[in-house]
Amino acid sequence: MNNSTLKKYFQVTLGCQMNEHDSEVIAAMLESKGYNPVSSAEDADLIIINTCAVRKKPEDKVASLLGKYAALKEINKNLIIAVGGCMTQQSDAAHYIKDRFHFVDLVFGTHALPRLPELIDQASESKSAILDISEDYLDRDKLPVSHGSSFKAWLPIIYGCNNYCSYCVVPFVRGSERSRPFHDIINDAKQLAENGYLEITLLGQNVNSYGNDLNNGVGFTDLLKEINSIEGLRRIRFMTSHPKDLSVKLIETIAMGELLCEHFHLPVQSGSNRILGLMNRKYTKEKYLNLIKEIKDMIPGASITSDIIIGFPGENESDFQETLNLVQEARFDNAFSFIYSPRNNTAAAKMKETLSHAEKEDRLLRFNEVQHKISKEINLSLVGSTAELLVEGPSKNNPEQQTGRTRTNKLVHFSHSEDLTANFAEVIITEARTWNLVGELE
Ligand code: SAH
Ligand code: SF4
Repeated sequence: MNNSTLKKYFQVTLGCQMNEHDSEVIAAMLESKGYNPVSSAEDADLIIINTCAVRKKPEDKVASLLGKYAALKEINKNLIIAVGGCMTQQSDAAHYIKDRFHFVDLVFGTHALPRLPELIDQASESKSAILDISEDYLDRDKLPVSHGSSFKAWLPIIYGCNNYCSYCVVPFVRGSERSRPFHDIINDAKQLAENGYLEITLLGQNVNSYGNDLNNGVGFTDLLKEINSIEGLRRIRFMTSHPKDLSVKLIETIAMGELLCEHFHLPVQSGSNRILGLMNRKYTKEKYLNLIKEIKDMIPGASITSDIIIGFPGENESDFQETLNLVQEARFDNAFSFIYSPRNNTAAAKMKETLSHAEKEDRLLRFNEVQHKISKEINLSLVGSTAELLVEGPSKNNPEQQTGRTRTNKLVHFSHSEDLTANFAEVIITEARTWNLVGELE
């Protein structure tokens, strides 16, 4: 095969782990069509942007990327530019991209994923842009996956979301909840174990809803118990858990399961019951704090992380203070804070915004100051303890160091000149920073 017949693709992925997984499916489909991945857009015959719609910022990023790729299309008229994912599942955004960036060849939504191979063929033959934002969910379960790592893998268990939190676009762009059949998930997990994978992260917008739509009595804890018994696997993670559905039974299951990692990502969003009500989160701050207490009592040393939205419509200073109080009480290992971003079609987009951007930014800074101090204090309390790491490879900033993760999902750097990627290492924690830890091999 000469160089000109080798087709090359470049993919950019924005957003969450589910999108990263979708990009692995896209990669596998492209590779079976004869495309090879390249690490720079300049070298590609096909550029794909897998977009995110959860906030305005990732949507703005798409316009800036397309601005850059316009010039490449001038140089290579045969270049195919495709934009897919959550942003383009929204009709207005899809049409905006198609009309504003007339050089884009294909716009496809999340539900079009299984049709991507044919869509690319159509786009390469058609003079005008192809648009597929159909609402039909095709079975995507049997699609191939090209895993980005050789030792840890994403494994979706449920697609979509039925919760309609008032600020969130996800139910509109990912559709309603569809749990994957129990045995398909178990078979995938077994296959991954046979292929040498050590860690699996079970994915869903709300993993606790797993099974609700199957009506066969099987739920998330049954799935965890079964995966926990698969030989060869060493660590099982899951995200995300909705606090309204996290049960004591689930905490008990995690406490007992040898492979089930002691990390809960449990987004709280706000510490004010009034705002939680407006957000349609269906729990109170008291119920949430009680859950945290149950987790800490039943699994000492478990780590808990969270997401917070700052500046939701109507959030006043005393609501914000309640969020700060909750964070002081919950003592999260880390909390990701986001300035509220109005999203089309959502209930909150119709609520009156009451804060200026500067006020939201000020709250964000004040929030982060409180949370960063707590993160550092928790990390400091770990100095002197030992931890098992699954090594991810050389540290990004220092090739003399290796980086690994604890079962509680904390990043630890340690000095070692040999590449220990995909090995387990025991370390003693010697230094604490806000975002990570430093250790020494035992
Ligand atoms: N399914 C997950 C997370 C979905 S989106 C869950 O239910 O927790 C990830 C995070 O983005 C959310 O937890 C929330 O904190 C944030 N987010 C979602 N919509 C947002 C919006 N409109 N503005 C700001 N942050 C938002
Ligand atoms: Fe969005 Fe709420 Fe569903 Fe999470 S649970 S994806 S925040 S609607």
